[in-house]
Amino acid sequence: MVPSVFVSHGAPTLPLDECPARTFLKGLGATLPRPSAVLAVSAHWETETPTVNLVSVNDTIHDFSGFPDALYEMRYPAHGSRALVTRTQQVLAEAGFKLEVDEARGLDHGAWVPLMLMYPEADVPVVQLSVQSDLGPEYHMKLGAALAPLRSEDVLVLGTGGFVHNLWSRDRGRIDGPEPPWVPEFSDWVHAAITHGRTADLVRYLKLAPHAALAHPEEEHFLPLFVALGAGGVAAKPERLHESTTFGTLRMDAYAFT
Ligand code: ZN
Repeated sequence: MVPSVFVSHGAPTLPLDECPARTFLKGLGATLPRPSAVLAVSAHWETETPTVNLVSVNDTIHDFSGFPDALYEMRYPAHGSRALVTRTQQVLAEAGFKLEVDEARGLDHGAWVPLMLMYPEADVPVVQLSVQSDLGPEYHMKLGAALAPLRSEDVLVLGTGGFVHNLWSRDRGRIDGPEPPWVPEFSDWVHAAITHGRTADLVRYLKLAPHAALAHPEEEHFLPLFVALGAGGVAAKPERLHESTTFGTLRMDAYAFT
């Protein structure tokens, strides 16, 4: 069975930046069972109702501004998958979720940046699923749990966001800038809660975790973690695959739930 995975995608320049997180993602695809398709749940697609994209070949969305030209020239033309859209509709319907289908949208950088590093040949079909930023962690755990059957059908459920995602206080100039102390304090709390299966605490992280409002001034980059956690199932074995920090306040940690 394919594990569900959460990755942090960091700044859009990750494909260009030499850093431990980039090295990790470049090796990640080869360490996972080869999936038949990826269902990418990205922080950069926020809708009121869960929505998937149905296309034959994904466009590459450059949903950022003010970055080097080389980034805008990058393309990740992975195929879409009608079969995965259909299965996603089925498993979500069984759990009581309505699913909408967007027949135009391609991949935002939350999806294509890590996937370009993981599967550089773009030879694994990719479908994106949106997050519902106003509906919080518990809802996204349930959404993930509904997707769990896909894992036994060789689908990689990939949550892509940020383990710590504070863009306001980050040291913009320095990818290896120092972490303020609250970054590891928050991260250590979340890691311990994941490791010990304290999901009831995790869904209340905004109240319980130290510096949660600093780590996530807005919540959308943390929600894909809960989708991956939910897709792992109640008996999932969590494994931290990576930990590092870029720009001081962008934690790049990744987890697998097997
Ligand atoms: Zn992002």
